[in-house]
Amino acid sequence: MLLGAPGSGKGTQAEMITRHFHIPVTSPGAILRREMELGTLLGIEVAEKTKHGELVPDKIIIDLIEDYVRLHGAHGFVFDGFPRTIPQADALQGILLRHRTPLDLAIWLDVSAETISDRISHRLQCGSCGFTTSESSAVFSERAVCPYCDGPLVRRTDDDASVLQTRLNEFNTKTQPLGDFYEKLGMLTKIDGNRDRDTVFADISGLIERAA
Ligand code: AMP
Repeated sequence: MLLGAPGSGKGTQAEMITRHFHIPVTSPGAILRREMELGTLLGIEVAEKTKHGELVPDKIIIDLIEDYVRLHGAHGFVFDGFPRTIPQADALQGILLRHRTPLDLAIWLDVSAETISDRISHRLQCGSCGFTTSESSAVFSERAVCPYCDGPLVRRTDDDASVLQTRLNEFNTKTQPLGDFYEKLGMLTKIDGNRDRDTVFADISGLIERAA
């Protein structure tokens, strides 16, 4: 499980974990973006909240995760952006028990306010596969394209400065308490997420290898 503020590198590290260890990632944020693009009932239901940077109701997210663990839990999982509230973390304990799936690691990517605003203001994301990069590392010929799938690299609409402020408020009030939650369970490992992606990944892969 990867925990941390918007821009802490959860998505980037989740993707590196998948490529290196072949552990599937599940990201409620990515699932909801896809649902909104497809215009499904779920997408329509969550659009207002995500557009304004608010968390969507716990029940929606918990149902998504329960389905995921039921269908794919046996192959392991990386949660990117789940849980984000105490009720979600409580529900996850039940889900994992019901599906007899242990949680090995809760990794908290610690970042400064400066890192967050710097990363979010330069972030580009592939509209097809979700690969995340920054304007400075993406080398473009004529248009911004994903190095993995050729999809368009675009700015996320919720990376806009005013929406980011709401996302940070949501993080501070609802997600921060998860640090204590997992600390008390003796599961939390904090990592300095201000460093470059490869240095952070070296720490994370060491933790995964030791937990395996
Ligand atoms: P992310 O891609 O993880 O930054 O998530 C984008 C948006 O999806 C968030 O701002 C929320 O509106 C919604 N979202 C993602 N994960 C959760 C979650 N665990 N709980 C509630 N809302 C979520």
